[in-house]
Amino acid sequence: MVLWGTAVPARAQSSFADATTMNWDGALTGMFLGLLLFSLAYNAAFFALLRERFLIWQSARTLSYFALAIGLSPLAMGPALAPDSFARQIWICVLFDLGVVFSGPFLRAYLEPGTVHKRLYPLLGWPPFLILLTTPAALMAGPPLYFAIRSAVLLAMLALCIATVVIAIARGSRTARYQAAAWSGIAAVYGVSLFHDIVLHTPFELFLFALFPALGLEVMLTAFGILDRLVRLRQERQEARAQAEAMRVIAHTDPLTGLPNRRAIEASFNDDPPVAIAIVDLDHFKAINDHHGHDVGDRVIFAAGVALGSGSALAARIGGEEFALLFRCEAGEVAGEAERLRQRVGAYIAQMVPSLKRPVTASMGLVHISRDTSFGAAMKSADINLYAAKESGRDRVVFIEAAAA
Ligand code: GH3
Ligand code: MG
Ligand code: MG
Repeated sequence: MVLWGTAVPARAQSSFADATTMNWDGALTGMFLGLLLFSLAYNAAFFALLRERFLIWQSARTLSYFALAIGLSPLAMGPALAPDSFARQIWICVLFDLGVVFSGPFLRAYLEPGTVHKRLYPLLGWPPFLILLTTPAALMAGPPLYFAIRSAVLLAMLALCIATVVIAIARGSRTARYQAAAWSGIAAVYGVSLFHDIVLHTPFELFLFALFPALGLEVMLTAFGILDRLVRLRQERQEARAQAEAMRVIAHTDPLTGLPNRRAIEASFNDDPPVAIAIVDLDHFKAINDHHGHDVGDRVIFAAGVALGSGSALAARIGGEEFALLFRCEAGEVAGEAERLRQRVGAYIAQMVPSLKRPVTASMGLVHISRDTSFGAAMKSADINLYAAKESGRDRVVFIEAAAA
């Protein structure tokens, strides 16, 4: 039987068939199968956590190795798959090739995005499956050209994987370094095997005994690589989530006062409807800007924000020198709290911006709201009351029940 250029030595196969005595081959096969089971469980556990596609491809590779090892072992698999049967040889060759084939899609899903060369990426997808067209060449003595094609296809796959890993390492991929280490054992076994074929012209008798520890090493180092990759993927996802949360907070916060903005207060209104809503507007604010400059105007707005944010109502800045308040206290306490906050605005501004010549006052339009009042309707009613407060001389609260829902 020929898996690669190397014929699998008959002695290697027959010693696997020696099931009755405990020998190194049996122990190695057992250890290898245990390692593969561990790898499968490990991949499944990680897949449940982070649904990464490369874990599926790695499991497919591991399953191929597992079935290959069973095929090479003396385990009874029914008369159709007897250890020395042709069917068993087909089994072995197909699974060996599948293990190689799956390495392509595995590698491109596994390496960090951007580290796989753009031209190599598509070649690692379905082209490796072409290897399966050459599998029969490993089983029977067909035309030499067919066998040569198989060797060429396998060499091309080897070159593709090596090029992908080398380029990825050059691009700073940590995962590729793990994979290079993982594949070094297998590469060494094949190197020696080719040396036997080409230079010594004798089959490499220890091929399978060397291949199993090399595959074991591959599975183990790939598991370390996967762990490393998953830890970094998790960190990246946590950072992305934290960044998205920070963006959400920024999008809902007024930068001058640090209070929630209109978008945030609307969301809060809809999540938990308040009992009353107010709009507060500073009186003659334009004059402050005109006499003292925009910087002082900003400090006045900031002080008003601190004052309005210091009470039990939820305060938001909804425009230049306009604020909204959501009251969630008892309905009877709303008017008192509203007036307290409105007066606090003037007091805070006087204390925080002492350079102002005249005291600053604020007007407020306040409305109670019923359960089914929308945010828009509530704001409209509050605005009407604010306008009434301005019209009737400023520096006051106007509190008339909202008519419309
Ligand atoms: P009223 O008593 O009728 O409310 O008069 P007012 O002068 O307060 O109102 P008006 O709407 O005429 O002026 C508001 C001013 O607020 C105009 C605008 O230039 C200023 N403004 C808006 N946003 C900001 C800001 O972020 N910083 C500063 N400093 N000024 C702002
Ligand atoms: Mg104003
Ligand atoms: Mg205004």
